Amino acid sequence: MKILVIEDERKLARFIKQGLEQNGHVADLTHSGSEGLDYVASGLYDLVLLDLMLPGQTGFEVLQNLRAFGLTVPVMILSALSDPEKVVQGLDLGAVDYLRKPFDFNELLARIRVLQRRTATSDNVVLRVADLEMRLVTHEVFKNNERLDLTNREFALLELLLRRSGQLVTKTEIAEKVWSADFDMGSNVIEVHIYQLRKKLDAVGKAGLIETIIGRGYRLKTA
Ligand code: CA
Repeated sequence: MKILVIEDERKLARFIKQGLEQNGHVADLTHSGSEGLDYVASGLYDLVLLDLMLPGQTGFEVLQNLRAFGLTVPVMILSALSDPEKVVQGLDLGAVDYLRKPFDFNELLARIRVLQRRTATSDNVVLRVADLEMRLVTHEVFKNNERLDLTNREFALLELLLRRSGQLVTKTEIAEKVWSADFDMGSNVIEVHIYQLRKKLDAVGKAGLIETIIGRGYRLKTA
């Protein structure tokens, strides 16, 4: 999942980002509510983790503004405010969950998995193309029925190509969806990851699934 963390306590924000990335997610950080709204408006995020006590606008105001702008991304509140009234207010404003700080990181990950299962429908839990199969909830990839060992980044990259199989996926789209907002487009990081991913895919079953569209991006062949 691509997750936006809106949290003004920088140390905690970095800790959350790091933990999410170690567990297969891609995370961006922002320390203010108004900047958070701009990020969400990009439409790139699958989930927002929202602090309540923020400088400028509060988390509640961020939540109200998101809905006012018609942005439907799921929001999970992470807050030190443990008063049941606050929890009710947050959920009534449309948050899908409310986790009280301090929290156990494994609990946060488990609650994210609950959301993934809840939003997953039968056609997006398992993605299939040719002899390739990706199981999203268990984070596994099989090629010709053999389990592949992919890094988190390779998994995210392949997920994007699979969701758009048969279509051109540009390098800009890959950078936006698979890497954080600070990604340097001038680097060759995407090419290197495509190269590694290809090597793993081509080692088993049908070879050459990832096509390069020179100067534009990549396409996953459908057969
Ligand atoms: Ca705060």
